[in-house]
Amino acid sequence: MKLSVYPLNLDLKTTFRVSHGASDQRRNALVKIEHDGMVGYGEAAAVFYYGDTQESLSAYLNGLPPLGNDPFALEAMLNALPEGPHAARAAVDIALHDLWGKLLGQPLYKLFGLTPAPLPQTSFTVGMDAPEAMAARVKELNYPIIKVKLGADEAEACVAAIRKVSAARLRVDANAAWSPDQALDLIARLAPYDLELIEQPLASGNAEAYRWLKNELDQRGIRTPIFIDESAQDSRDAARHAGAVDGVVVKLMKTGGLREALRAIHTARAHGMKVMLSCMIESSLGVTAAAHLAPLCDQLDLDGPLLVANDPFDGLRYDGAAPSLPDRPGIGVLPRQTL
Ligand code: MG
Repeated sequence: MKLSVYPLNLDLKTTFRVSHGASDQRRNALVKIEHDGMVGYGEAAAVFYYGDTQESLSAYLNGLPPLGNDPFALEAMLNALPEGPHAARAAVDIALHDLWGKLLGQPLYKLFGLTPAPLPQTSFTVGMDAPEAMAARVKELNYPIIKVKLGADEAEACVAAIRKVSAARLRVDANAAWSPDQALDLIARLAPYDLELIEQPLASGNAEAYRWLKNELDQRGIRTPIFIDESAQDSRDAARHAGAVDGVVVKLMKTGGLREALRAIHTARAHGMKVMLSCMIESSLGVTAAAHLAPLCDQLDLDGPLLVANDPFDGLRYDGAAPSLPDRPGIGVLPRQTL
């Protein structure tokens, strides 16, 4: 099998602002694995707050030892990958799964034994901005599920302004920006606004802080579900937060691909937690790969391709907020131009 690496530069339709920073282009990496005249495609998203760049991801991928010549030995090949950025390992995992499906002539969801329809609806993400600007954006989008990025400042004002103009299902993502005391105060103040969930209110790496928060909220009768994203990199993190949060956000770029994402989903389920399947800013390649696991998840946050102006792949389709999987073998994406 031959692995090659290319830049995958994605221009964003609008500048994207979260509590970690702002961007209007994402420079991801594309992996091609060729075997027997078939090509498997994989994507690595360069997420700046994980310290990854297109250069560092490409350097890891270009330095990999040969994968061998058995395209069905997925577990062995993935276990043999050297330590490195999870997003880069995800690109290899995704390309191998694409190749697997193509060699067997079946879409991935069928190989996983899943039914592709109907899938849950996906949210659309609105970046941080002034309260009036966020409300105007939500109104203009007129989407049934909105996820808003919030810092600690003006969090309540933003949600209040949005609620004035929209009855959408509303998810809040704090991207680890709140201290425990701030989180307790803000979640209490946001409770009347009928939020579907609050994602990653606290810093990652401290399950006990989440346990404390959950306890305090319970004592006050506040039932807003708390999900973890940055805190939940893989299946072990899901287990670590059992009882401390209501759900986990699973992304291929955190787990290092589909195989560990499956394990994370099953681990979360075994602990009675909900699962939201999500993505980084990725093209239709990475997001469609993830969507093959969507039938196992409660909530979807798969708006990556909707944020990208120059998506190089055709894959997941959106009828408003309702995604549908392509029926082609493997991931089922087609390059829009020669790659
Ligand atoms: Mg998040």
